[in-house]
Parts: sequence; structure tokens; C-alpha cells
Amino acid sequence: MPAIILDGTKIASAIRGEVAAEVKAMAAAGVRPGLAVVLVGHNPASEIYVRGKVKACEEVGVHSEQHTPPDSVTTAELLALVDNLNRRDDVDGILVQLPLPPQVDAKKVLMAVDPAKDVDGFHPVNVGFLSTQRPGLVPCTPAGVMEILQRSQIPVAGREAVVVGRSDIVGKPAAMLLLNANATVTVCHSKTQDLPGVCRRADILVAAIGRAGMITREFVKAGATVIDVGMNKVTDPAEFARLFAGRSASGLTSNAKREETFRTKESTLVGDVHPEVAEIAGAITPVPGGVGPLTIAMLMFNTVKAAKMRRGRNVPELASK
Ligand code: NAP
Repeated sequence: MPAIILDGTKIASAIRGEVAAEVKAMAAAGVRPGLAVVLVGHNPASEIYVRGKVKACEEVGVHSEQHTPPDSVTTAELLALVDNLNRRDDVDGILVQLPLPPQVDAKKVLMAVDPAKDVDGFHPVNVGFLSTQRPGLVPCTPAGVMEILQRSQIPVAGREAVVVGRSDIVGKPAAMLLLNANATVTVCHSKTQDLPGVCRRADILVAAIGRAGMITREFVKAGATVIDVGMNKVTDPAEFARLFAGRSASGLTSNAKREETFRTKESTLVGDVHPEVAEIAGAITPVPGGVGPLTIAMLMFNTVKAAKMRRGRNVPELASK
């Protein structure tokens, strides 16, 4: 039986609706949450991400503002900007879009963001809050993974979860959230031995690797839930064929549509999970339309959460807290 498709676009839209309702209620009490985005230079990918974030703010009623220092900005100049945003009471969330230019000490800049306004959840103080199960700001993509599981009624407590990838922004916080939700968690990485064997133990398999279609059928236990965090641009026709040739529509994305995109744009967005996995998994997130849309929805949630926490109000309850 083909896997149930976990529709991230639908879940993200529900979360945005809840956040918009929260923002409306706050407006009635005279508070408007505000997000400041720092976008350095002209990185086309970063510009697209920031546009998406600003648009999402408009949709849910969060105030947003952009700060766009030039590529030549120094660490000291960025620290001064962050310091100013930290001090402003009308700014609840500060997001420094990565990557920063090589002359900038990115770690120093991220460390300078007030943890109470760190809507990316990258500051070590928030990392500590997450690992000790205290209220704080949780990184958006892993928080989105938990929302998908919870809102799709996929049980986590007591189940085997395997996370492939141990980055600070996805793999590690995803593992911590699953552990906090009482899963038995294994974290894998490039030095893990017998990766397919370890992955096959998973009731819930989270792939956050950055390698198109690496997780093939042999990594997956029949009926497992597979969450594909990967976002990889495939441009090579041979790679496209490895992933999609001879495959009838798997339910993830119709192949005709995928082929059309590849023909016209000469690229397609692919996850870390091979499409063949949809034939064996119990439930699976598609790429695009799975985890991706949750990331911005959770950023909106975090901005409202920061606004409420800073004012000592109760925060809305979500799976990722
Ligand atoms: P990253 O920092 O490059 O980390 C990749 C992780 O995968 C590392 O821990 C690495 O192991 C591990 N890995 C690499 N090759 C491996 C292999 N052959 N076998 C086992 N493990 C391997 O990447 P990231 O920032 O976590 O992102 C992961 C993916 O998620 C990317 O495709 C990224 O585009 C995507 N992403 C999506 C969203 C979204 O909104 N959907 C958000 C963020 C990221 P080592 O630690 O040993 O090197």
C-alpha cells in the first residue's frame, strides 16, 4: 500500500491561521508583534527566503522590517545593528539571514542576539533551554517536523526515532525534540556504520542530510513514518533519471509535472529521500510541500511566542512548545 502523504502545505496553513488569530487578539490588547530581518548584501537565495518571510508576516499581521547592510559590512557594524534591535521594545524577533560574508564573524553576531528575541532558536541559551525542557525559542524547521507528526496523529512516545544528520539547525534540535517527546532516539552522521541497518530500526525516520535521494528503500522499515527535511536542487539529467525514470506517479508528485518542471527550468527540488520510499513507508512528507512550508509558519509562531514571553503572557501551546 503506498504511503500516506503528510501535507506540509496544509499543516503550515493551519498554523498560520492560528498565529493570525493570536496576532488579532494581541492587537485588541494594543500589542503588535514585530520581526526585524537583517539581510546582508545580495545573495539571490537569501533574498528569496527573506521575501517569503516578509510576505508571511504581512499575511499573519506581524510587523516586519528589513535591514540591508552592504556586502562590505564589518562585524562591528553588524554588532551595533543587533545591539540597537535588542534595545528596541517594538522588535520582538531578530533574524540574521545566513550566510554572512566571510569577513564577518557570524558566530559572534548570532551570539549577540538577545535570546528572548532569537526567533531562529540558534542562540546557546535557547539550545540549553531546549535540552533542559525549559520554555524558550525552538529552531523553526525541527519544530515544524514535530508539528507534522503531532497534527498527523503519529505517535512518538516510546517509538524508535532515527535522525540522519547532526547539524545545529536541524539534526540535533530534531533529535532533542523527539527525545523530549519520549521517543528512543538515535542520531546518525557521516561516520555512522551500517547506516541502512540503523535506519531500518526506525518507526520514525528523519532525513536531514543534504544529499538528493540518498535514503533508498533499503533504509526503511515497512510502514515507518519518513520525514524528509532535505532540499536539494537537481540539475543533472542522469541524477534526475536515477530518481524518477520509469517510476509511475508515487503519490508524492506526479512524474509528468516533475518532468515538465525539469524540462522548462532545467532543475527540480528533491529531498534526501528517494521517491521509491513512498512504496514502502507508512507515511511520508513530500518535497516540495512537506517540511519546507512549516519552517516559515514556525518562524511566525516563534515571533508571536517571543512577543508574549517578553511581556510575561502565556504562550500558545504547540507540539514543539
Ligand atoms: P548540514 O549542516 O550540511 O548537515 C548535514 C548532516 O548530514 C551532517 O551531520 C552530516 O554528517 C550528515 N551527512 C552528510 N552526508 C552523510 C552521509 N553520507 N551519511 C550520513 N550522514 C551524512 O545540513 P543541514 O543544514 O542540517 O541541512 C540538511 C538538509 O536539510 C539540506 O538539504 C538542507 O537544504 C535542508 N534544510 C531544509 C530546511 C527546510 O526548511 N525544509 C531547513 C534547513 C535545512 P557529519 O556531521 O558527520 O558531517
